[in-house]
Amino acid sequence: MNVFQGNDEGDPGVSRLGDRARLTSDRLTGIPKRVTEIEAYPTVVKEGGVVVSEENAEGTFREFIREHSNVFRVEADDLRLVSIRNINNRWYVKYEQRYKGLPVHKATVGLDSSEDGKVGTYAASYHPDIDLPVEPAISLEAATGAAIETYPKGRQRYLRRQDDVLLVYPEKSDDQVSYHLAWKIQIVTEEPDPELEKFFIVDALDGTILRSYTANFPGAQVTGMAQAEVYPENPTDPISTVPLEHEYVEIEDAGTTTTNSAGRFKKYVNWLWPLFHWPTGDATFTLDGPYARVQDSAGVDFTETRPCNTTSPCNMTWSATDRDHINVFYHMNLFHDWLADQLGYSWKNPWDGTSRLNAQVNHSFNNAYAGNPMKFGTDPFARSSDVIYHECIHNVLYEIYGDYIGWPDSHAEAYGMDEGFADYFSSSFTNDSRHGEGYTSSPRNLDNNKQYPGKSGYNIEGHTGGLFIGGAGWELRQRLVNIYGGSGARIADQLLLEAHQILSTYPRDYYYSDPSESNLLSALYRAADIDNNLKNGFPYFNDMQLAFHAHGLLQAVLEDRDSFDFSTNTLGTLTGGDLYYYDGKFWANNYEQNGVKDLGGIGTPDLGGITIPKSGYTRFGVDAVEGHTYVSKAQDGEQQSYIVFRVTDLGASKSTVTVQYLYRVSPFWYIANLNTKEIHKPVCRWVSLMAAGNKHHLKSLKTAAHWIKDDGYNGCYYCLNRYDTDTHTMRAVLRNLNADLETP
Ligand SMILES: [Zn+2]
Repeated sequence: MNVFQGNDEGDPGVSRLGDRARLTSDRLTGIPKRVTEIEAYPTVVKEGGVVVSEENAEGTFREFIREHSNVFRVEADDLRLVSIRNINNRWYVKYEQRYKGLPVHKATVGLDSSEDGKVGTYAASYHPDIDLPVEPAISLEAATGAAIETYPKGRQRYLRRQDDVLLVYPEKSDDQVSYHLAWKIQIVTEEPDPELEKFFIVDALDGTILRSYTANFPGAQVTGMAQAEVYPENPTDPISTVPLEHEYVEIEDAGTTTTNSAGRFKKYVNWLWPLFHWPTGDATFTLDGPYARVQDSAGVDFTETRPCNTTSPCNMTWSATDRDHINVFYHMNLFHDWLADQLGYSWKNPWDGTSRLNAQVNHSFNNAYAGNPMKFGTDPFARSSDVIYHECIHNVLYEIYGDYIGWPDSHAEAYGMDEGFADYFSSSFTNDSRHGEGYTSSPRNLDNNKQYPGKSGYNIEGHTGGLFIGGAGWELRQRLVNIYGGSGARIADQLLLEAHQILSTYPRDYYYSDPSESNLLSALYRAADIDNNLKNGFPYFNDMQLAFHAHGLLQAVLEDRDSFDFSTNTLGTLTGGDLYYYDGKFWANNYEQNGVKDLGGIGTPDLGGITIPKSGYTRFGVDAVEGHTYVSKAQDGEQQSYIVFRVTDLGASKSTVTVQYLYRVSPFWYIANLNTKEIHKPVCRWVSLMAAGNKHHLKSLKTAAHWIKDDGYNGCYYCLNRYDTDTHTMRAVLRNLNADLETP
């Protein structure tokens, strides 16, 4: 029943809203999007005497919309209140559209009225013809995964979902609207990053990403660069200005950011920031960051403040007449990155569990100390990169071992390792065996011939003791550099760092090589082993041997009935290993043992140069005599290998004997154990070097080549070509081998 007067047919009911009411329809949905100059009251106000209030406005105006639904063409029951505001004596009411309980993206209906309830304007972005299932077929997790997939691989692990909602998403094109059941998800980063944070609309029925857009209203940013005047290596170097990385920069009222490896920083600020910080705000630079903090001797931060704004870069160069603090901060960060990037070791502060080591500078003493904080004394100590790296490594080793390796027992072998490896890793990073040039006239040098005097009566101060154990590390490094080039240094670094991690799990106290104690040599073998079986050999064995041998570090103290396996540095009782010591004699008459020969008192020629005798070995005891040199056949399974050793100490009762030794490896042993399909590079290379230099080994190699002939001989060929420093000689060897093999 039509009770209204004056309506024209195309526009039923509009005139009831007032004589001047004007209606505009949405081009796509065809329903009113805007009605202005309404002059009509809700019935409950006009006829029921209701006074509009904040409490009843929602229902009152919903009824008004329902009363005029023939005009507005929206379903009043699908409207959910968003807000009611009374601004300047008018009511403003806003509803959002729901579809079967789900919000419809950005679909709202609103109106305003005078304070007494006379409606003035109506506006709607409303979707009248939705027809969708409301059960998602794509889970929220799957939708989140699809969103994160759109980021570069390296960024994905820093992202997470913050907000999510299931909704109806109207997708508008030029001539129609289509509706999707969709997840709206906000993806955020750990550290706020406006360039990465986005909203995603993902179709909840088929998983399509319908839309994504940055989550942040475009703001502005404060950018700049931090640099520092430093001593590149030594206190005597000319000053250099370099980018300062990993430094915190705090932008006033906007939070803290960190400089990157180029010293650059940026901090997003909201669009109001420039107004509140006109013409500039403050940027505060502190010698503090995620990995290093440097303070003065009283524990006070170093900070500098510069004016900054969003229109020009805010640059800062740390400069001072006394640059100790700047230098220490710079080199700590540099060294942190090297350890993390090259050795995969990201340091931890053992005292507080953070990732940051702390330092103080300008103490009055002539020295530097590890700890928390590290303390740097007079200028030269804080200006020597060697010293800074050295103290950092003390802390790193402290973290690995749960304490210093040997300090404060300052004349123990273990303290020698504290100092030797603090020097070693510092030197490996600088690629210079000298430590402390520029602050001392006599820098320590890891490239030396210092000899370990033996375990009994060892009484050497840590820094001096460090010269031969650190020297052995350096010798290993240089051997591997000679073979593999620069990457050989990293192989040695990795092996030694792993060896310390292994040794730290053994009980205290710690020694260099003695097999009856927790010792570094055994840990190093374990670090190199690839199949959890030391007895079948392992990579780098010969280079490790020779490195320790160069400093007299291959020594073992045997007690009565001790057997010894030289190639694994392992003691046993009578059986196992290459020989045993019993009743003042060396014996080799147990299972797998093969015989010993006494070469007599031939003086102290290098054990590496002793000619291996072909005969004269006995399994049934040769007397141990101080100063005598012996040769032992290696045990079964270590084909054609020998051990040359010398008795360096024999107590009067002969209850213990100290031997210094060198294992003379035959390539035959290795090749016998080789899987020819996967020839291991170090073994390969070593086989060929041995063959080049030694007739005896050449014979072994020929024999071995028969073993691997099934492989079409490619393994050897590969070895010889790939790893020989002297290609010409190697090719000659290869030709001989070929000739030999091809002649029955
Ligand atoms: Zn030290």
